[in-house]
Amino acid sequence: MQNLFDLSGKTALVTGSARGLGFAYAEGLAGAGARVILNDIRDELLKESVSNLRNKGYEALGKRFDVTNEEEIEQCFLALDDEGIKVDILINNAGIQYRKPMVELELENWQKVIDTNLTSAFLVSRAAAKRMINRHSGGKIINIGSLTSQAARPTVAPYTAAKGGIKMLTCSMAAEWAQFNIQTNAIGPGYILTDMNTALIEDKDFDKWVKSSNPSQRWGDPEELIGTAIFLSSKASDYINGQLIYVDGGWLAVL
Ligand code: NDP
Repeated sequence: MQNLFDLSGKTALVTGSARGLGFAYAEGLAGAGARVILNDIRDELLKESVSNLRNKGYEALGKRFDVTNEEEIEQCFLALDDEGIKVDILINNAGIQYRKPMVELELENWQKVIDTNLTSAFLVSRAAAKRMINRHSGGKIINIGSLTSQAARPTVAPYTAAKGGIKMLTCSMAAEWAQFNIQTNAIGPGYILTDMNTALIEDKDFDKWVKSSNPSQRWGDPEELIGTAIFLSSKASDYINGQLIYVDGGWLAVL
């Protein structure tokens, strides 16, 4: 029987993948056979991460663009068109967090968090889906949500609004693009050990709260997200559309 999880011959673009969860998704997809395009906003780190994957024997390339910049996104996809590179799998991973009580929150920071976590997924998916539709190839789009797609926490209002938006944007993409054999789903990571959480990991009270509120009694590792990313990128998930799969050690189950 055919290996349902084999991604050989596929090209995957992962945004915000020079480090953290994005890098883990990219390495995981490369391990499953895909050629991977790493993206990030910082050129140096991006180059290092591409070399890192190449040194491991994977086919990897880097494309620097800011996921909030419509022009840069379009230029990147036009360059890929010129190079004859077709994106079959897109993971909209780039994201930022900004913590501040809502009464003190500046409009500029509200907007930046919404743009980076939500509007970016619309912009990059639009460029990718347009091409998947035109070439009748189908494809896979994975948006990255969060526990805050379902449960609010204090001091992260724009992040929560964006990640809640990701849930329904995923449904909207499925509603419009399922007819073109494009499956759009989302992953909702729980509390994972990445640079985004450095301050929280070092905060003893927060660390204690994460462990005590989670039935698994621990943070997650980036590697623990890879299986879901491969599954949603592969043939194994061809009839799954518009879903958000939480990978949270059971945190939401006991909320
Ligand atoms: P990191 O901060 O470790 O990595 C995010 C990467 O995205 C960084 O390399 C960052 O670049 C890049 N990035 C930021 N803004 C842009 C931009 N405008 N254009 C291109 N790249 C950009 O985050 P994580 O790996 O922890 O998180 C990845 C995703 O997973 C995010 O969407 C996050 O919301 C989500 N998530 C993470 C959880 C966790 O516990 N870690 C939990 C739930 C969801 P730079 O280095 O310059 O900042």
